[in-house]
Amino acid sequence: MALCCILTCEHAGNEIPGEYAFLFAGKEDVLYSHKAIDFGAGWLARHLARRLGLPLYSVTTSRLLVEGNRSLGTQELFSPYTKELAKEEKQALLEKYYFPHRREVEAKIQEETAAGHQVLHLAIHTFTPALEGEVRPAEVGILYDPERSLEERLAHQLKAHLQEANPERKVLFNQPYPGSADGFPTHLRGKFDQNHYAGFELEVNQKFFLNGDEEAWRQVLEEITQAVQAVLQAGQA
Ligand SMILES: [Zn+2]
Repeated sequence: MALCCILTCEHAGNEIPGEYAFLFAGKEDVLYSHKAIDFGAGWLARHLARRLGLPLYSVTTSRLLVEGNRSLGTQELFSPYTKELAKEEKQALLEKYYFPHRREVEAKIQEETAAGHQVLHLAIHTFTPALEGEVRPAEVGILYDPERSLEERLAHQLKAHLQEANPERKVLFNQPYPGSADGFPTHLRGKFDQNHYAGFELEVNQKFFLNGDEEAWRQVLEEITQAVQAVLQAGQA
């Protein structure tokens, strides 16, 4: 069964459309923090898309408007800046900035699985180097559900290729979060069976992007590109 790759990036930007700017009046600083955007994630996702010749499905409005990586009905779907909006206004946010991405990606996976392909979904994210004073040890986190056989297999392949590219790289499974926690791939696991859909959040430490060391950042991008390429090549053989 041929393996194909679908690239997504839910936290690619910090855009706030003009009609919602008032929600952040006087609090614009937050839009330039990790709470609003995954620094570097859009760059990495675009780099992968270009190098692998794949389309990229991304959300460029800030997660502080509506959180594209959370399921309907969860506490974190709306941020402290949008929580208090009226029900209709929240619905409008969902219709404009949440459902289109979800529907588009889901339709693409549906199309691929219907054609008999296996789907490797890589949702590209980055995480803040320290949270609440705690330094996170991972440099690259592979988030997945170990209960799912295809994910388990591909996770180990991806890690092996990353370590092959750089044995020193701290590549950890399910760090800084467990892959089975709520997120877009978790939602999609409920829709597609484990032999056809493997959903990953690939989480990269933002320190590489934030510390201004362009060489280190480019090296991480390259290692990830090579590793994904190798996994896809093996899957097509
Ligand atoms: Zn993210």
